[in-house]
Amino acid sequence: MPVPAWVPIREELRDDEPYGAPQLDVPVQLNTNENPYGPSEETARDIADSVHGVALTLNRYPDREATELRTSLAAYLGHGLTPERVWAANGSNEVMQQVLQAFGGPGRTAVSFAPTYSMYPEYARNTHTRWVAGRRREDFGLDVDAALALIAEEQPDVVILTSPNNPTGTALDPAHTRAVLEAAPGVVVVDEAYAEFRRDGTPSALELLDEFPRLLVTRTMSKAFALAGGRLGYVAADAAIIDALRIVRLPYHLSAVSQAAATAALRHQDELLAQVDALRTTRDETADWLREQGFEVAESDANFVLFGRFEDRHAIWQGLLDRGVLIREVGPLGWLRVSIGTPQDMQAFRTALQEVTR
Ligand code: PMP
Repeated sequence: MPVPAWVPIREELRDDEPYGAPQLDVPVQLNTNENPYGPSEETARDIADSVHGVALTLNRYPDREATELRTSLAAYLGHGLTPERVWAANGSNEVMQQVLQAFGGPGRTAVSFAPTYSMYPEYARNTHTRWVAGRRREDFGLDVDAALALIAEEQPDVVILTSPNNPTGTALDPAHTRAVLEAAPGVVVVDEAYAEFRRDGTPSALELLDEFPRLLVTRTMSKAFALAGGRLGYVAADAAIIDALRIVRLPYHLSAVSQAAATAALRHQDELLAQVDALRTTRDETADWLREQGFEVAESDANFVLFGRFEDRHAIWQGLLDRGVLIREVGPLGWLRVSIGTPQDMQAFRTALQEVTR
């Protein structure tokens, strides 16, 4: 439904819909790459106590610089990072929008490689940044020669790489990241929202930060950390890049409640991250099982699996939903994405999929 004619919205937004996966109350929710394991009672109590502590001072604005939280995030990331080289916002979505506010904008260009995270073009739209999408290879890996050619041609102000990529799950070859960093004239963002789920031996772009001052590595507490509801994303970069982001952020953008909750959650990182290994195992089992069933499956280093191909993927999605299993109709035509849940969730998914495709 277009926005009604009397609403004086920007014309280019008139036919747009608010972004978002359906939020449906069904028993098995495998559609937004959440962590199926919530915090323990003890962790929830510590988060609540920390929030209670700041609730007593909510008459005051929060720490604009979120110093305590950024110190905890820097310690979590390691790699010699300090709080001045880390920035936090309401989800990595907000971080990415700030990146485009600071480094994109009218007359500027951002490049990414599709199929990839479908919010990127929206950040570009919101910041009036020209958006150019290159293509990935058939196996969803980065076609590095094509990527370098596109960068040479477009001279983009921002390049967004995603590793592991959503919705395909594909991790970047570190040699390709390096090649892009050497070629790109502007900033390069490596979106590592799913970093903790990578298979062993796939290095993080954090290792390249000291060598490439125009590199930004974004992360989130929404996935591995099981804190999607807390809305906390962050980025590591050179301190001068972080200072540039501080120019465009709204004053007091990160509430005292968010800062307290995330800082408390970081104190319990061992517990919150404890399920990551189990989720990786379940992911690999799910991918193997899907292959045994005869489906095509993209290699995944994330907490989801893209599989296909279906002539009518919507019918399959609907059939699963009718059986109480919500997955995501996203990515290249003919493919579907399932997030990794508990073993029970995945059993329900398998049973439903077998019924629907029989
Ligand atoms: N980047 C990627 C690749 C994602 O898949 C997501 C969430 N789906 C995000 C960023 C944003 O996550 P959040 O805002 O919850 O940190």
